[in-house]
Amino acid sequence: MTPADMTHAFRTGCACCMPRGGLSRRHFLCSTAAVAAAPAIAASAIEEAQAAPKRVQAGRPILIKGGCVLSLDKAVGDFETADVLIEGSKIKEVRPNISAPNAQVIDASNRIVMPGFVDTHRHMWQGFLRNVLPDGSLEDYRNVVQRTFGAKMTPDDVYAADYISALGAIDTGVTCVLDWSHIGISPAHTDACVKGLRDSGVRGVFAYGAGQNETGRVMEIPTAKYPGDIARLRKQYFSSDDQLTTLYLAALGGSPEATLSQFKAAREVGARISIHVGVGEFGRSALLEKLNALNGLKDDTTYIHCCTLNDTEWRLIKDTGGTISIAGYVETLMGHGNPPTQKAIDLGIRPSLSVDVETSVPNDFFTQMRTVFSLQKNEVWAKRHAGDKNPPKFVTAREVVEFATIEGTRANGLEKKVGTLTPGKEADVILLRTDLLNTMPINNAVGAVVTSMTSQNVDTVLIAGKVMKRDGRLVGVDMKKVAKLGRDAQARNYKAAGVPDKRI
Ligand SMILES: [Zn+2]
Repeated sequence: MTPADMTHAFRTGCACCMPRGGLSRRHFLCSTAAVAAAPAIAASAIEEAQAAPKRVQAGRPILIKGGCVLSLDKAVGDFETADVLIEGSKIKEVRPNISAPNAQVIDASNRIVMPGFVDTHRHMWQGFLRNVLPDGSLEDYRNVVQRTFGAKMTPDDVYAADYISALGAIDTGVTCVLDWSHIGISPAHTDACVKGLRDSGVRGVFAYGAGQNETGRVMEIPTAKYPGDIARLRKQYFSSDDQLTTLYLAALGGSPEATLSQFKAAREVGARISIHVGVGEFGRSALLEKLNALNGLKDDTTYIHCCTLNDTEWRLIKDTGGTISIAGYVETLMGHGNPPTQKAIDLGIRPSLSVDVETSVPNDFFTQMRTVFSLQKNEVWAKRHAGDKNPPKFVTAREVVEFATIEGTRANGLEKKVGTLTPGKEADVILLRTDLLNTMPINNAVGAVVTSMTSQNVDTVLIAGKVMKRDGRLVGVDMKKVAKLGRDAQARNYKAAGVPDKRI
């Protein structure tokens, strides 16, 4: 192994590039050499950004040409320069020099091509309440967002919120998102959320939840049909799992018996489950131990946060095959507890990531990746500085990218369908610019994604083979209309909630 190879292996943490395995050209990264070989950067990036997005005709294959490809599939490998051929909704081939004369070409030079990010928990009904609570605690969130704004939301409001939140997700390269929809004040609210999610074109996992009211005793809402209405949803919207939106239950929790009856409602219609656990002091009730005593824990459940679970509960998640969702940014911000990345790794559980609430958290996944990356390292450093002779390993940038993609699909029940660039899987693909001032000149593809990029790098987004964003702009979305939709809903909701409609 040459010194250059050693540097590469160190930079990437790529196991196949470490000394024993030797350096594989495919398991690499976009090096400076790749950039040198790539076509010159467009004469004017500004002109390019201002030009109308290039249309891609439906029905013809799409060839993503000449990108730095991170397939994240070990069998496929990664490539400094390769192509991705998409036919219909699916990935047909991933390799260099694909010839497809009938295909429409998307030029991926100066782009990283990788699977879209996968969010496993976002309360999308809050889509027009972004950053309403930058300084709030968890208790403030419950009082302001849930019991003040949420309690007064109408179906039209939640449609707008879900739609805007989903478009925002797509815009930042999040191609799949679980909508943790605890705004089921009535079936009409629920239907409106499903519609908003579907109208956006995102790969949406709709997690049906209870409603909101002023008291927080949400099982007392007379118009809500939670959780039994999940049977209607299954019939009306989700009769097949082979579609872009799929069904989960957003379990409210409560007593072990109440929680279990919610789990049963989901399982009776074959829906997977997502539940918040281990949140602050409230999360120290050993709920998972009690549910386990009732045989309630199975491999169909994603546990969100998990910050204050006890060791027995962690072991139960592992032993029953559950998945977890870490919303690292909000957990540090609002008092949930430390994001349990290391705890999960110690048990052999690979976490997925989530935004949670846009009321306090940016909607992109770069923030999520950087949060767990730096916090896990900080935890390990603290152990080292304290004299720990056998500290855990530092998480690598590549592992964090996997948390943001493939592990998300596992938690969302979609790992066979998306999460890697694998022939036969559906084409949820993003192209990230490496020729902007925050990433140029590119040295390390995975490193650029995790440490340098922001939403401005998200150039092109495809979901199930459909181009949703091109040349930095959403395709087929009238931003003026979207802005009005959001503003109108916001004004209605502020008025209904009795909150002064002010920005300062
Ligand atoms: Zn949440």
